[in-house]
Amino acid sequence: MIIRPKYRGFICTTAHPAGCENNVRQQIDYVKSKGRIKGPARVLVVGSSTGYGLAARIAAAYGLGARTVGVFFERPGDAGKPGSAGWYNNRAFENFARGDGLFAKSLNGDAFSKEVKRDVVQWIQEEMPGGQIDLLIYSLASPRRADPETGQIYNSVIKPVGQVFRGKTVDFHKGTVSEVSIEPADEKEIGETVAVMGGADWRLWIEAALAAHVLADGFLTAAFSYLGPAQTHAIYKDGTIGMAKRDLERKSAEIRERLAPLGGNAFVSVNKAVVTQASAAIPVVPLYMSILYKVMKENHTHEGCVEQMYRLFHDRLYHPAGAAADDRGRIRMDDLELRPDAQLRVHEIWERVDSGNIAELADLEGYRKDFFNLFGFGRDDVDYEADVSPV
Ligand code: NAD
Repeated sequence: MIIRPKYRGFICTTAHPAGCENNVRQQIDYVKSKGRIKGPARVLVVGSSTGYGLAARIAAAYGLGARTVGVFFERPGDAGKPGSAGWYNNRAFENFARGDGLFAKSLNGDAFSKEVKRDVVQWIQEEMPGGQIDLLIYSLASPRRADPETGQIYNSVIKPVGQVFRGKTVDFHKGTVSEVSIEPADEKEIGETVAVMGGADWRLWIEAALAAHVLADGFLTAAFSYLGPAQTHAIYKDGTIGMAKRDLERKSAEIRERLAPLGGNAFVSVNKAVVTQASAAIPVVPLYMSILYKVMKENHTHEGCVEQMYRLFHDRLYHPAGAAADDRGRIRMDDLELRPDAQLRVHEIWERVDSGNIAELADLEGYRKDFFNLFGFGRDDVDYEADVSPV
């Protein structure tokens, strides 16, 4: 099959196996080039097939030399249709890891369910030395969650809270900048977004693992958040998703208490904005990110998922001096993004940017390239005219 990108807005329904494989290899090569990280070596990543979770798994395997278990929800390819990018990413990761003598086992299923938690806990007991893990990275991004007790489906929305949002946005395929107006969420939408993207499920993972005694002494866990600059606060930090992230912070404090008897700890890592399937779906963010990319690339401070995750492990989680969290238990990996000089420059561009000057003022090309790269497209080292098996 010849596989081409089929996209509509922020959704691309095809993915290229060879491109995804090369994306994974590139991340592995990055971690190998940075060298080993001193730390423990039994790691579970929930949400391990794309974005930050995949990068965390690569940093764990190739930086820490860890045995990894990964959990994700992806569509396998079949004879008539390509699979999802995460499916190909995971297959590539497993092949590389095994080839390099690293244990890697993955489960494709609904991480919100009791069954998947039970199966993963059992794998840890059977496959990890001592039947325990040292680190759980929680990196889920999902539009919906089925309640494991009641079966009720919660849907998350990306909306402002308490006020109409008006701001600039971009159609990143066409390069047209326009004004959007988004009505505020109602109470039900806020509650459901918190139920999907808040910390409830992270806490359930920890409780399931504690009950089965699979957490080692000194166990660490981290989940991811985003704060961002003033331009995106109304739609992100102060919107429905921000409400969910506040819940994540509350849950991290609860989890920290639960882990105290093990000498463990829980963190919310506030990460940098990067192009992923999850972030592409948020209005306004692609415009902000294409400006941010321009500024951070000029400043030589730009990072993608794997650079962030290597730095999280090397400089924070497993730094000999400790994780350097703030007073709310947050690790700030967005330090370079929010540097005042960078944000001042972003603000100046934000005020001036329009459809006529965006190509010059922002790195829209870089944004678009990263978007298609997510699905294995737009790489120079892949022959996209070649026949490939989607299976
Ligand atoms: P992503 O879309 O690339 O990854 C989501 C992962 O979750 C995938 O592995 C997917 O398979 C998995 N997943 C989704 N639903 C699942 C389910 N029901 N069961 C099992 N797995 C499931 O997203 P991302 O951008 O890497 O986001 C990960 C986390 O990082 C989120 O909490 C997000 O808010 C946070 N974050 C993202 C950014 C950013 O700019 N992308 C910045 C800061 C923080």
